[in-house]
Amino acid sequence: MHEAAKAFPAAGHDHDDCVAQAIESAEVLCGDRGLRFTALRRRVLTLVWDSHKPVGAYDILDRFREEGRKAAPPTVYRALDFLIEAGLVHRLDSLNAYIGCPDPARSHTGQFLICRQCRTVAELDDPEIDAMVRKKAGQLGFTAVHQMLEIQGLCNECRSRG
Ligand SMILES: [Zn+2]
Ligand SMILES: [Zn+2]
Ligand SMILES: [Zn+2]
Repeated sequence: MHEAAKAFPAAGHDHDDCVAQAIESAEVLCGDRGLRFTALRRRVLTLVWDSHKPVGAYDILDRFREEGRKAAPPTVYRALDFLIEAGLVHRLDSLNAYIGCPDPARSHTGQFLICRQCRTVAELDDPEIDAMVRKKAGQLGFTAVHQMLEIQGLCNECRSRG
């Protein structure tokens, strides 16, 4: 599971499997922590996991509309906040978009590799980087509370396509 979290998804992989795994981990995690994994939260998480590309709140609202569901923006934002709080979803500030976490059970800060070409995102999620940032910040008398590193570049697929 952890190795998968570090890898970019292989082209043509069985993404249904990723979605099934994400939903299963969410059920286990919410069960363990006594959190309510409502139908709405499940649907929002499934839509975030639509692919390995970040999804905007308005993409989710559009999908709800297509499905004929009535969901006011605040409802969807509240569901996203719940998912972020639970660690099931990360918010990528630079893109103003959301990405599913492949390893939500383990508490971590995010380092994200974002492909500029296809927008695929992978989590690097390296505790050494986290510790280094904390240490360097501490040396400046700064207590790091939340870190989010967004690294832009080209994924392997896009690079090999030239
Ligand atoms: Zn996948
Ligand atoms: Zn994560
Ligand atoms: Zn790419």
